[in-house]
Amino acid sequence: MSTSLATHTSEELIALEAEWGARNYRPLDLVIVRGDGAWVMDVEGRSYLDCLSAYSAVNQGHCHPRLLATLTEQAARVTLTSRAFRNEQLPLFCEELAQLCGMEMVLPMNTGAEAVETAIKAARRWGYTTKSIPADAAQIIVFDGNFHGRTTTIVGFSSDAAYREGFGPFAPGFVRVPFGDIEAVRAAINANTCAVLFEPIQCEAGVIIPPDGFLRDLAALCAEENVLLIADEIQTGLGRTGRRFACDHEDITPDMYVLGKALSGGFYPVSAVVSSREVLGVFGPGTHGSTYGGNPLGCAVARTALEVMNDEGLIERSADLGAWLLEELRTLQHPHIVAVRGRGLILAIELNVPARAYCEALMKRGLLCKETHDTVIRLAPPLVVRKEDLAWAVEQLRAVFSVS
Ligand SMILES: *Cc1c(COP(=O)(O)O)cnc(C)c1O
Repeated sequence: MSTSLATHTSEELIALEAEWGARNYRPLDLVIVRGDGAWVMDVEGRSYLDCLSAYSAVNQGHCHPRLLATLTEQAARVTLTSRAFRNEQLPLFCEELAQLCGMEMVLPMNTGAEAVETAIKAARRWGYTTKSIPADAAQIIVFDGNFHGRTTTIVGFSSDAAYREGFGPFAPGFVRVPFGDIEAVRAAINANTCAVLFEPIQCEAGVIIPPDGFLRDLAALCAEENVLLIADEIQTGLGRTGRRFACDHEDITPDMYVLGKALSGGFYPVSAVVSSREVLGVFGPGTHGSTYGGNPLGCAVARTALEVMNDEGLIERSADLGAWLLEELRTLQHPHIVAVRGRGLILAIELNVPARAYCEALMKRGLLCKETHDTVIRLAPPLVVRKEDLAWAVEQLRAVFSVS
């Protein structure tokens, strides 16, 4: 990586952002100007190992050369046609993604939240047309601790006050139950239930892994009750947990996958709902859409992002390196560490004190991670990370968590 050409210092840029930018995030105080693989560089030329991966959007690593080549080649040809006309990338993207998922149809959107909204629409319409649920009475079961995005409908069924406060009124039609509690799901299902929307691992909530067997029980219950199972794999999907999808850990196939983030390797927002003809067939012309959804630039980038995942064995890397890293993290001994958990390369160190100060101390040592839900340090490096980088990361963690 060459050094930065930035015309401002970090301090100046941080001050400008505070003055002109809305403060809906609380970033760590480093200003990134370059990225390469698992590493990023700040304005002053310091290097950091990225153990957040933009919330698992850059699984393929920063500025992957194949993605860059696809992006520039496609951008020089055509970027946006709208769905009023056809483009040559969309059909190939749909075919390739559907086949990867073992599904029949794809509906492309841009951000994760839009794909979740699309899944909600599909499930409701499916409920009215195939289950004869009375008009406007469809219910969707969701879980405590869920994170599915930031639209008003989605935050309306969040259990987190910070996501909701001051943003109501919210859309009705959602019933929330404790995560991992199959009996609570069973009790919440009634004739108007069209779907259960879940994350196979609740990453934002602090990398919460449900009890063994929960996903299998959930899939069986939904099949028995004729309720659609919607897996939000926006963060867990495409190799992050050491399998293609986190659902694969319990060998379940949901009725819909909701994908985003790593689907485009950090280059361009691409999300999608992937499902059966029966479910996505509820949409006819004019019933749903997006100006940028399915655009040729995004589709081309996403096709290459999936190829990179396969060609570079990123799923296997995640499984192998994740298992190794989990064992290493389990050797950390500190009075403030109350739990260590993970699956593939999404891991968490849970503390009994706020995690922010530890993330700041790690940043000073060149390791980037971000607290989630106050007391949890989430570790989710790009899946291209090298084992020696992770060994170095463990040394930094050991130094910060040394009892002296
Ligand atoms: C990030 C995320 C979303 C929202 O995606 P955006 O692209 O930020 O809208 C939804 N669900 C899960 C599980 C996520 O991690």
